[in-house]
Amino acid sequence: MKTLVLIDNDALSRALLSQCLAGQGWKVLEAENGAAGLDLVVKHQPTAVVCDLRTPKGNGFKICRLIREDAQLNSTRVVLMGVSRFANDRDTAFATGADGYLVKPIAPGELLASLEQCRDDVRSAENSKTAFAGPTRVRFWGVRGSIPTPGLQTAQFGGNTSCIEVRVGDQVIVLDAGSGIRALGQELMREFHNKPLDITMLVTHTHWDHIQGFPFFIPAYNPKVNVRIVGYEGAVHGLRGALFEQMQSAFFPVGLNQMASHVTFEELSEMEFELDAVKVRAIFANHPGICLGYRLSTPSGDIVYMPDHEAYERHEIERQKIAGETSPASLDYARAQDEKVIEFIRAADVVIGDTQYDTTEYPSRLGWGHTCADDAVDLAMRAGVKHLFLFHHDPDHHDDKMTAMIARAEEKVAAAGSPMMVSAAREGAEFVLEWALPRA
Ligand SMILES: [Zn+2]
Ligand SMILES: [Zn+2]
Repeated sequence: MKTLVLIDNDALSRALLSQCLAGQGWKVLEAENGAAGLDLVVKHQPTAVVCDLRTPKGNGFKICRLIREDAQLNSTRVVLMGVSRFANDRDTAFATGADGYLVKPIAPGELLASLEQCRDDVRSAENSKTAFAGPTRVRFWGVRGSIPTPGLQTAQFGGNTSCIEVRVGDQVIVLDAGSGIRALGQELMREFHNKPLDITMLVTHTHWDHIQGFPFFIPAYNPKVNVRIVGYEGAVHGLRGALFEQMQSAFFPVGLNQMASHVTFEELSEMEFELDAVKVRAIFANHPGICLGYRLSTPSGDIVYMPDHEAYERHEIERQKIAGETSPASLDYARAQDEKVIEFIRAADVVIGDTQYDTTEYPSRLGWGHTCADDAVDLAMRAGVKHLFLFHHDPDHHDDKMTAMIARAEEKVAAAGSPMMVSAAREGAEFVLEWALPRA
């Protein structure tokens, strides 16, 4: 039985709603003020909270905000109730993270309809656990770092920022929401049209080039779509906070809470977790703020996605050179950190890795959080990776430069006598694991 916390200072209203909900299979816990209600919410982690806006000891806006700030309560649905039709109250309710807003007096059917989404979510989560079979298909929708770079000079490799689609049987996983996610959303809607669709979006970090496409992701505006956003808390903002802020009215005309699909957020605390049929391991990347790399173990092979990361040893060598410093201990420490990355990517079928700079560019971009391509190739060869995709292409790297970078990487691999394949990720390119991997 699902639990609901009902917070309302009006005893009669509480009794009426409680009776109606109990008759529909809900276990209802009642509170007459905000503080008592919040205690119940924290203790019972209910499926839903229904809260009057004007409650003593913590009004509805505040209760909703506190629930949204608690990572443990990410999947709790919050419905706020007002006594008037002020548009401002309604807008503020959604801005604080409410999933629904109803005006009193509330018809029981209206409340039940607003809560019905909770049941759908549970059903879809149950169904999704059994839905996987088939190969792993990967498609690049955005390969560029930092900022979109459309134009003739980037037409071959693509100008959209980071976004990759991974299909594991029926499961749809999206890696990051850079500007490439816009075209992916259109394609998903063409494929699924009006059928229910569950999408898991795995976010490495909330730098703008990894989330900027989300407001243009059409499936998020479709009520038949569930979008589950999974990632780690950022340095300043929570995962939800960062996506919410870029859709504030100063930046975008539609707010995150006005998206019609059911968008849920899961802020991770563990470094290993499962996305249904896919086992995921995470590693902290060497990148400003909090940024992760992910290793997805699928039934047909392992894919590592580490788009923003600065290799440690070269960083330390160049740093000591500039500082005129000699510190063998710091260099040893940096090498040990690189070894951890090697262990993380060891024997992966595919690594999609940060190779933003070449050796001539790197010294002037020291500490910007990105790897020199030569180092990425060396580390991947040492780890026994089968196929390395250069990724997070610099905005200044036009197609001719990218072609030259692939040639250099291939030379290094050949000189080392390594069997590793190396390509540059190209927008629109697709590969299937246990199938012929393409060379770009
Ligand atoms: Zn980036
Ligand atoms: Zn970044």
